[in-house]
Parts: sequence; C-alpha cells; structure tokens
Amino acid sequence: TEAAATAHALPAEANAAPPARDLFSKFDPLIAEREALLATGVRDPFAIVMDEVKSPTEAVIRGKDTILLGTYNYMGMTFDADVIEAGKAALDAFGSGTNGSRMLNGTFRDHVDAENALREFYGADHAMVFSTGYQANLGIISTIAAKGDYIILDADSHASIYDGCALGNAEVVRFRHNSVEDLDKRLGRLPADAGKLVVLEGVYSMLGDIAPLDQMVAVARKHGAMTLSDEAHSMGFFGEHGRGVYEAQGLELGRDIDFVIGTFSKSVGTVGGFCVSNHPKFEVMRLACRPYIFTASLPPSVVATAATSIRKLMTATEKRERLWWNARTLHANLKALGFRLGTEAPDSAILAVILTDQQQAVMMWQALLEAGLYVNMARPPATPAGTFLLRCSLCAEHRPDQIEAITRMFEQAGRATGAID
Ligand code: PMP
Repeated sequence: TEAAATAHALPAEANAAPPARDLFSKFDPLIAEREALLATGVRDPFAIVMDEVKSPTEAVIRGKDTILLGTYNYMGMTFDADVIEAGKAALDAFGSGTNGSRMLNGTFRDHVDAENALREFYGADHAMVFSTGYQANLGIISTIAAKGDYIILDADSHASIYDGCALGNAEVVRFRHNSVEDLDKRLGRLPADAGKLVVLEGVYSMLGDIAPLDQMVAVARKHGAMTLSDEAHSMGFFGEHGRGVYEAQGLELGRDIDFVIGTFSKSVGTVGGFCVSNHPKFEVMRLACRPYIFTASLPPSVVATAATSIRKLMTATEKRERLWWNARTLHANLKALGFRLGTEAPDSAILAVILTDQQQAVMMWQALLEAGLYVNMARPPATPAGTFLLRCSLCAEHRPDQIEAITRMFEQAGRATGAID
C-alpha cells in the first residue's frame, strides 16, 4: 500500500523506537517544592521517626523526650493493659496473620468478635470490618453508589471519600463545606427518581469543625437520599454512647443515618476500618465490595485489641470528660495568647492553629519540636482554602501539667516566629 511504501522510504532512525518518556517528570514541581523547603534548613516535617513511644502522650524523637499532640489517640487506648493483653493472647493463639481475604480463609474468631463489639457499641444490626478506614470508605461508597446513581458530598471531604467516588461509577456532586442550603439546592437539581447517597463527616479533621448533621439529614431525607456519616474523629467521646456527632445531635442509625463509617486507627487505638448499618440487605456487601474481598484481613492480634478497646470505650465516661476538659482548656489558652484557630469554640478534640504561610508554619512547627512538642504540619491540598495549619489533637491522657507545658511552648514559639505579638 501507499502507507507501507512511505514507511519503507523513511530513513532508518525515524523507524527507531522513541526514547521512553519519563513518567516521573510530572512530579518535578513537587520535588522542587520539597527541596526548596529543606534548603531553608528545617527538619523534614514528613519524615519524623518515633524512636520510642512511652505512653499515649510521650515519645522519644531523635533522643528528645517529646509530648505528642499530633496523633489521633483521642482516648489513649494504645497502652491500655486489657487491650495489650487481648492482643498478646490472640497472637499466641492464632499466630501473626491470616494470609487471606475475609471472604475465604481470613475470617478468624476475633474478626467476628470485633464485628459483634461494633454491633453492641452502635446498637446496630450489621457491622463489617475492613483492613483500614480508608478501605471502608473506598469500598462502601464505590459499591453502594453505582452507574446512574449520585453521590453528593461535602467539598472538604476526606481523601478516602473522594477516592471512593473515583473508584465507583456514580455521578459525583459537591456542595459547599457545611452548607445546608447548598446541599438542598444541589439535591433539588437531580432527577427525583435517581438513587442518591449523601456523604457527610461528623468532625472535619483539618479544622476540627463539626457538621450540622441534623439539618443535613433532614434535607437529604426530603430529597429521598440515603445518608452516610464518617465518624472517624468522634468515636468514643461524642454522644451519650460515644457513637459520634450524629448521636450527639439526636440522630439514630437506621432512622436517620443509613451507614456509619469509622476507623480503629483513632479512638480505638489500633488499625482497621468499619461500616455499621441497619439496612436489611447490608450483608450482601461482603459479596460485592472489592476493597473488602481482594485484600488480606487484619491480623488476629489487631482485631482482638480492637474488640477489647471498643467494649471499654462504651463505658469510658471519665476519659471522655478528661478529653473534653483538655480540648476546652487548650483552646481557651491558645485563643487567649492570640493564635488564630480553626474554630471559634472547642467543637472537637482537634484544634487547628492557622498560620500565614508555609514558611511561618514550618518555623513554628520546628520551634515546637525543638522545645519537645510534636504537632501535625498540614498544608494544601489536604487543607481547605490553601491554608497552612499546625494541627493539634488532644488525648484523654494528657495531664493538666502537660497542657500547661504545651501552652508555654506555643507562647514561646509563637513569639519567636512572629505568629503572635
Ligand atoms: N475518614 C476520615 C475522616 C479520616 O480522617 C481518616 C484518616 N485520617 C480515614 C477515614 C481513614 O482512616 P484509616 O486511618 O483507618 O485508614
């Protein structure tokens, strides 16, 4: 043919394979940004190593005793004697891992027990344990909302919620963060008979603000939508039974909220994720949800610690009170010092200190670390509206003298870096 003849006529080198395009060139801006940050002489905020962990609130970092104010160990369960004992017993009895999927050989006695503990904790008909909270969102969201359905989510939703949307085939509609009005407007534009899932979070983890779930659920119901609330940052200390923000606002699983997503990596003090629901067909998820099926289940020691921790959290009233006292006290102290905080009032156990730019945030972060305090550095794209934050999360086990020491460290570092006058 003519094309073949032309190809034949081309010089030999034109027929040679083109050089492989480096797929890593897209990361050049990220590499440059990181190098510029490290060139200022600061420690890398994303490469901290805990050499020793002494308690839920104390670790050794590069030889220095450091107060931990940047973990999600809200209820301080990681060193609870009963939790540790349960983990050791399961390790001895069942070995170090399951070597398989929940669907095949990977469901051991303690996976079922952790699901029973969750059913008791939430007063729920069904509970399903995933290997992480990330996978719980990924799996549930991508599986229940399929082609032709709609997912309506808060613009500031956690990455795992966005990734759950990306994994599935539903249409995705975002509404303005915490805006009941915008949620109503956007739901109103969707076909009345389409399947709809409204995805909310009890506590938004970057600023520590809480959602008006009661109003949002009312709007969702008005438009015939199902509702999911991610209660990762509220479990154990919001609501009468510690079920989360939805409980604190008078909502009930089944009646108002169809699915609650949670994690074992925060208040529960280990690793894992879950979904609880009263939907009569919920168990079918075990046969359809790919991030549940195509991955190995949690080690028996992990689910055994989770089950023990969850049951202890059901009655941890004193811890709850201490956590709220700590959150209120530190919020008041930092506000009095003149720091700009993510919320006017201490809405949750997360307290975000907002800095002007990356440089100030990093200087402040480093000054705190050198003084013996670890907080989270958070920056875009994880943060809303391009803000740079030092994110502090309180623990029930922070003692009053630690709260006082933390306040003084913030005062000194804030003055030294110009973050406060
Ligand atoms: N949802 C929210 C709101 C979270 O903040 C997180 C983790 N930070 C997750 C889900 C994922 O939880 P896990 O750590 O168990 O993967």
